[in-house]
Amino acid sequence: MKGKLGLAHLERREITLNPDQNEISLMGTAIHEVLHLEQWDLSEEAVIRIEKNITDVLCRLGFRRTEKDGE
Ligand SMILES: [Zn+2]
Repeated sequence: MKGKLGLAHLERREITLNPDQNEISLMGTAIHEVLHLEQWDLSEEAVIRIEKNITDVLCRLGFRRTEKDGE
């Protein structure tokens, strides 16, 4: 995962998240990688735009991770 925040494995329908990022970045990366899984033909630019919009709305609503469970 060095140098990457996350990866989408299309064939396995899984995402991998680099845990070495702050919680808001982790939220954005999770959204980003799920977007790649669900809409693999979207451009990176579109994925980033949607990721930022969703992350911004969730942050404004106060969504935060409350504990780390090692997952
Ligand atoms: Zn991407």
